[in-house]
Amino acid sequence: MLKIDLDACIGCGVCEANCAFGAITMKDGHPEVNEKCTLCGTCVDNCEVGALSIEREAKAGQTDLASWSGVWVFAEFRRGRIAPVALELLGAGRGLADTRGVKLAAVLLGSELGGAAAELIAHGADTVFQVDDPALAHFTDDAYGNVLADLIRAHKPEIVLAGATAIGRSVIPRVATMMGAGLTADCTQLAIREEDGALLQTRPAFGGNIMATIVCPDTRPQMATVRPLVMKPLTRDAARRGEVVNVAAPPERLRSRVKVLDSVASEGEQANITESDVVVAAGRGMDGDKGMALVKELADALGGAVGASRAAVDSGWISYHHQVGQTGKTVAPKLYIACGISGAIQHVIGMQSAETIVAINKDPHAPIFDVATYGVVGDVFEILPKLTAKMKERKGA
Ligand SMILES: Cc1cc2nc3c(=O)[nH]c(=O)nc-3n(C[C@H](O)[C@H](O)[C@H](O)COP(=O)(O)OP(=O)(O)OC[C@H]3O[C@@H](n4cnc5c(N)ncnc54)[C@H](O)[C@@H]3O)c2cc1C
Repeated sequence: MLKIDLDACIGCGVCEANCAFGAITMKDGHPEVNEKCTLCGTCVDNCEVGALSIEREAKAGQTDLASWSGVWVFAEFRRGRIAPVALELLGAGRGLADTRGVKLAAVLLGSELGGAAAELIAHGADTVFQVDDPALAHFTDDAYGNVLADLIRAHKPEIVLAGATAIGRSVIPRVATMMGAGLTADCTQLAIREEDGALLQTRPAFGGNIMATIVCPDTRPQMATVRPLVMKPLTRDAARRGEVVNVAAPPERLRSRVKVLDSVASEGEQANITESDVVVAAGRGMDGDKGMALVKELADALGGAVGASRAAVDSGWISYHHQVGQTGKTVAPKLYIACGISGAIQHVIGMQSAETIVAINKDPHAPIFDVATYGVVGDVFEILPKLTAKMKERKGA
């Protein structure tokens, strides 16, 4: 809640003028706060005499951990479909919920949601909290954040998971701040600690050189984001039964300061290496445009996409949208061919879930061979043309 120190307040009215929500009105020379307050903190930042402060809900959570129960997944819904990461999180969430002996719920926000709730149930959810409202047709931080935070306050889940997508990365930190809860971003592993049921949130740290396991012992909910393709979805079971709870959000909570005029797919979405069954990736060993052309040719012959190490991206040979790894994308194709890539941990993190990994490198001791299913020691400039020719020959046959 927003707290006002009347002794410190000088009645200047700056807080009222800066409040975008009309949540503060001056009365008898002092500010009064109404229910429109979102705890955004703008008034606190603008109060020069320090008369305003925000008391977060975490205080209640800290003394009342046992009353928080259940595992929730924020089921991102965009362009008329559920983001695949939501189904992957339901797979992970199912395991966590079963270990804790609690229910698994999905939160579905959007407009014209159709059969999405049934799909979430078929992938493991026991309950779906659904807010289907035209005001949620386009993603906006404030409306989505308000609705999700209100649902969390009302139902008190102990764990909230979301995809580390552009939307998840934008709204989830906001919700964590509103709840006064901790948040671990980009987790690669989630588990329950036996002694106290705490969520063990593991993620790469110190530039990927160690894996750190983080717990939030004092606040609820425990919040984590997970990158797409890190967890595995459950097999779809159309016979699964669950409950769909339709929730009507109050209009003032759906209001946004952002007006979406248009939504356009970026080049990154078009060059989507995360959805391809085959990724042929280029590293520094490809040595420039001539080498990149060989990689592209092999990818075309296999009907796959071109990936890259950061070294190749930093050298300007290909755009960032193709980067695989800790600061790029995570991919899990059926086949990943690493060409002239050494296998630094920051790269391996982004591709180690591939079903089959083929590494081509002239250095027999390159770490990429530690994760490779098949290793070819040799010069990429000799091997790639032969491989491409063989693939074309097979296709022709
Ligand atoms: C915080 C942080 C985040 C990072 N994020 C990422 C990330 O998201 N993705 C990423 O990829 N990296 C990332 N990196 C960088 C990472 O540490 C490595 O520097 C990078 O992956 C190296 O790329 P590379 O394997 O292409 O190049 P190098 O390590 O230079 O390896 C080139 C390889 O090519 C081989 N080679 C050379 N010529 C030939 C030839 N003719 N034929 C066959 N083989 C040949 C060499 O033997 C060598 O093994 C990150 C680093 C940090 C610190």
